[in-house]
Amino acid sequence: MTPGLPMSVPAPGLPARVRIHEVGARDGLQNEQTVIPTEVKAEFIRRLADAGLDTIEATSFVHPRWVPQLADAERLFPLVSELAARLPVLVPNERGLDRALALGADRIAVFGSATESFAKANLNRTVDEALAMFAPVVARAKEAGAHVRGYLSMCFGDPWEGPVPIPQVVRVCRALLDQGCDELSLGDTIGVATPGHVTTLLTALNEAGVGTDVLGVHFHDTYGQALANTLAALQHGVTTVDASAGGLGGCPYAKSATGNLATEDLLWMLHGLGIETGVDLGRLTATSAWMAERLGRPSPSRTVRALSHKE
Ligand code: MG
Repeated sequence: MTPGLPMSVPAPGLPARVRIHEVGARDGLQNEQTVIPTEVKAEFIRRLADAGLDTIEATSFVHPRWVPQLADAERLFPLVSELAARLPVLVPNERGLDRALALGADRIAVFGSATESFAKANLNRTVDEALAMFAPVVARAKEAGAHVRGYLSMCFGDPWEGPVPIPQVVRVCRALLDQGCDELSLGDTIGVATPGHVTTLLTALNEAGVGTDVLGVHFHDTYGQALANTLAALQHGVTTVDASAGGLGGCPYAKSATGNLATEDLLWMLHGLGIETGVDLGRLTATSAWMAERLGRPSPSRTVRALSHKE
């Protein structure tokens, strides 16, 4: 066994390669209390690309009042836009789309909800009003030649509504695809899903005509289920998995803890299964340790901690 790397022992029925959609710089940092300087964010994104991540969500063009941690999107994006990695950005509405396109962004993401309660809390709209707001955003992004990802929050459980009915999730997924989204990211925003639930939702989506090839998964580790849920999704044929370097956004010491699956924890499992990712675990761990210093606290990723531990 090579120090710092898992033993590679393949298991049957899994994809040969997985694309990691790295969300640390956006979903991670927007949920951290510390505001990171723009230059440090740019360095972080460069290091993520150096580690081999090819899809790095860079920032969000929301109104700065909503997400002060990402208020520097206009200054940050040009600092990293020449990187070879794909750099999707979140846009909440047409104003955000205009700002992103003006800077040359060619991959955008919209952020929908499977439940009325979260749509109300997060977007101050009903689910259908939110979909109506996205329609021109998606249409104009496609006209501009951009790739569009549709995030869907609360696909499994909702803090106000409890379990989320599968047909409700399927309906919103279909609506986002019908609007023109190229791919969807199924979010377990409060981390309550378990593997059977994941398989059941993916099967229902397939039965509704949604191919596994357009589906990514976005699990949170709040209840320690993120890797088990990921394995269930891989067994179903999913090959796009969202994760956050160092578990950013999931700091157990912060009230805002949301429990993003740490990219390093994901890599340990994928590489242990012999699944290719193109990502160098050692380089990524060093990057997350470096960012943890900037945030003034240790990474919540177990793999980062294990690999950083020195006797
Ligand atoms: Mg997340």
